[in-house]
Amino acid sequence: MSALLESYAAGSWFRAEDEGRPLLDAVTGEEVARISSTGLDLAAMTDHARIVGGPAVRELTFHQRGAVLKAVAKLLGADKDELYALSARTGATLRDSQVDVDGGIGTLFSYASKASRELPADTIVLDGDTEQLGRTGVFLGQHLYTSRPGIAVQINAFNFPVWGMLEKLAPAFLAGLPTIVKPASQGAWLTEAVVRRIIDSGLMPEGSLQLLCGSPDGLLDQLGPQDSVAFTGSAATGALLRQHAAVVHGGVQLGVEADSLNCSILGPDVTADDPELDLFVKGVVTEMTVKAGQKCTAIRRAIVPAAMADEVVAAISARLAKVTVGDPGSEGVRMGALASLAQRDDVRKAISTLRSSAEIVFGDPDRVDVVGADAERGAFMSPVLLRATEGATEPHEVEAFGPVSTVIAYESLDEAIALAALGRGSLAGSLVTHDPQVARQVTLGLAPWHGRLLVLDRDDAPESTGHGSPLPVLVHGGPGRAGGGEELGGIRAVLHHMQRTAVQASPDMLTAITGQWTKGAAQRVDEQHPFRKSLAELRIGDTIRSASRTVTLDDIDRFAELTGDTFYAHTDAEAAAANPLFGGIVAHGYLVVSIAAGLFVDPDPGPVLANFGVDHLRLLTPVKAGDTIDVVLTVKQITPRASADYGEVRWDAVVSNADGAAVATYDVLTLVAKTLDNQEG
Ligand code: NDP
Repeated sequence: MSALLESYAAGSWFRAEDEGRPLLDAVTGEEVARISSTGLDLAAMTDHARIVGGPAVRELTFHQRGAVLKAVAKLLGADKDELYALSARTGATLRDSQVDVDGGIGTLFSYASKASRELPADTIVLDGDTEQLGRTGVFLGQHLYTSRPGIAVQINAFNFPVWGMLEKLAPAFLAGLPTIVKPASQGAWLTEAVVRRIIDSGLMPEGSLQLLCGSPDGLLDQLGPQDSVAFTGSAATGALLRQHAAVVHGGVQLGVEADSLNCSILGPDVTADDPELDLFVKGVVTEMTVKAGQKCTAIRRAIVPAAMADEVVAAISARLAKVTVGDPGSEGVRMGALASLAQRDDVRKAISTLRSSAEIVFGDPDRVDVVGADAERGAFMSPVLLRATEGATEPHEVEAFGPVSTVIAYESLDEAIALAALGRGSLAGSLVTHDPQVARQVTLGLAPWHGRLLVLDRDDAPESTGHGSPLPVLVHGGPGRAGGGEELGGIRAVLHHMQRTAVQASPDMLTAITGQWTKGAAQRVDEQHPFRKSLAELRIGDTIRSASRTVTLDDIDRFAELTGDTFYAHTDAEAAAANPLFGGIVAHGYLVVSIAAGLFVDPDPGPVLANFGVDHLRLLTPVKAGDTIDVVLTVKQITPRASADYGEVRWDAVVSNADGAAVATYDVLTLVAKTLDNQEG
């Protein structure tokens, strides 16, 4: 008997009390492992996540959490061959395994990098600017995101045992949540192997990752209003979860990613001679055959101009005829097996339903030539292409979760858009066209029904990641039938896991709460110029109030000459007088900003290493020759960089004129040495 998969629960590996049920190799039909969760203490798991895992993650800043994800990505990257071997037993070819394993590792790297670049070295995230709620500015509002003291539960589908887990784990971990992973039973041996490596490494804080192999019955009963469940799988299970008391009455947040009848539309502009036709055909064939079509984003409906339908069917069929099916390890095999014999039965059933309004134009659902394996014992299947009859409904309703797609003809673009919408909401759609008008009309028509859209033509094809690849930086999820959930999409997915709260308070209170200086809060001017202070010495609110300087006509003339910016408002008195906003010569905005730098700078070598830009520059009041200006510079935010001897300091800059009116406002961004010893940059 093969090994019983274990769960990682409450700090140790748990072995079920019974023998479990067998999980079979998709290619050979041999038993790979057994699975059972009998006797598993689910309450102990959720308690462990809440009491041990959550606090340990939330103690880390976003940058530290990102560093953990990066280390995990490196760890798994060093061990890919063993994971590929386990993946092959799910029916996956090497290319399929790379989509799953490398795709998952890449997602971790992407989130690690985004955390360090786009999230603060803190445990909260500010959302937008402060809102002034009263007349004088002593009462402000600020939206902020905090971590929930809850648990992220993920219930995954069988098709991506690695990526499916890691793409949910990365944003949840960054958001400060411990995760309990429940993989689909089929293929769970691969997920278990990955979790085992992560746990053995000790890289993730204890309790931040637990694994539930087997039935999750009763798990949702342990969850409450700070917890969330992210589910990927069938619409039927999704519907069951939606009706669960924990969701309906208990406040558990549920994200569902279910069936999706994704479409690809061929534009009416594309002729047989255009490269776009080939791109379209390749896209459909790739999506039918990668992972044997068991991809939630695969193209199920190929929507083409009626006049091109014969040509498209012939071209797709010709390509499919070259796809060798068989043991993923055998030479030349392009498509492996479905995940299980049961899954193949489901796909055959779906095809027979589709056949009530579509005819098979390529492939036989019941027969396939197989290389290197036993066609009966493995879950092999031929790619099957169907062609819909006019007015067909089934292709818009039935998801055959395998190497199956249906060609559907349209007469007008409006009809193409309407056909796409019959899918009632999809994860991903694509349009292949070289006509910008078609691109706009179809994109706007399809967007409300989709989470992601690819517009493909000869120009972006060389770098296109394809119709079916979810990317960590782009939203994955879709409306309606696709479940209504949203995953990935960069930091958006992190924020989905956090609570946004509007906090109303005084500027000083907001500064204390957020750790960022807020306009109107106390400013501290002391003897020492802040440019002489290292990162360790600088404090939020440290301020420079500069001397003032009068801007002369000569300054403006010389700046125009030096820079070549001789725009009439700075050089031609008559023309400038006619300008309704200025009524005369005004200083260049960049001259004002440059003079301000001259006013606040402390010139000698010191801990300030570089100025790396300004944010949010606004020129509010014109500066005329003879006007006097000064600047107030205040430390707004301090962000140490983990891997460097310096950090970033964001300064609030306000340039004012003699009347006290703000002339320019912006943030100055500098790099400052952490200590006075390492000020050499
Ligand atoms: P399921 O919905 O049966 O399973 C998905 C996950 O939910 C698995 O981890 C499963 O565990 C778990 N699960 C099953 N029943 C429950 C329950 N009552 N409560 C909590 N969790 C539960 O989908 P399958 O993986 O079996 O796939 C069936 C069909 O779903 C496919 O043929 C396809 O049509 C569709 N599908 C769609 C995907 C998409 O992303 N659009 C992805 C995968 C599948 P266990 O495996 O242990 O039963």
